[in-house]
Amino acid sequence: MVLWCINIFESERRRLIDVLISEGFLRSQSVIDAMMRVPREYFVPEEYRRYSYSDTPLPIGYGQTISAPHMVAIMTELLSPQPGQRVLEVGTGSGYQAAVIAEIVGVEGHVWTVERIPQLAEFALNNLRRAGYLDRVSIVVGDGSGGFEPAAPYDRIIVTAAAPEVPRPMLEQLKDGGRLVIPVGELWLQVLKVVVKEGSKIRHETSIPCVFVPLVGRYGFRR
Ligand code: SAH
Repeated sequence: MVLWCINIFESERRRLIDVLISEGFLRSQSVIDAMMRVPREYFVPEEYRRYSYSDTPLPIGYGQTISAPHMVAIMTELLSPQPGQRVLEVGTGSGYQAAVIAEIVGVEGHVWTVERIPQLAEFALNNLRRAGYLDRVSIVVGDGSGGFEPAAPYDRIIVTAAAPEVPRPMLEQLKDGGRLVIPVGELWLQVLKVVVKEGSKIRHETSIPCVFVPLVGRYGFRR
């Protein structure tokens, strides 16, 4: 029975990834492989588990969601993490996005992920433990709207909650040549921004419109 369930999820995962490839969301082999390896069903609350491979966000409690798989694909492609890199994620939620990045950076790299809601940090900790990623992911509880100074500098920073503008401390915590991916805009409508640090210059690229839950904190929205 258990084996049968695992097989169902694996074939559903493969089917979803084929769709994400054909829709153009997934392009790089490293991102495809990572999303094929990480079991999304481990990061979805029990009552929604059967929808793990629907391309939709799902509730994880406390008014928060695990992002839709196509959004994880888009953001990971834009972030372009490489093996061995140090990555900061702000907005741990379920821990799924952190696991996808952890697959790519490998055991030589590391992911620090910051979550402001302690119960979600605990949820993510359990999910990441079961999925086997705690050797390369560290969870920090607190306001990550100003990044996470203690482990800086980072090769990559990804923010999975919407900010009113790019938080300045994150630019400071980025290495030269580093990339930051962040939804920026108003509550309930943002654009995905990619910020590249090139020496003293900061280059901004704008990608697609998106809707993320708000980044709540000192450099985010105040609520
Ligand atoms: N990346 C997650 C989804 C994130 S949902 C996943 O793969 O499941 C956005 C998360 O950002 C929520 O859990 C929310 O509590 C968190 N968040 C919002 N503001 C934050 C802040 N200032 N610091 C850290 N986390 C924050």
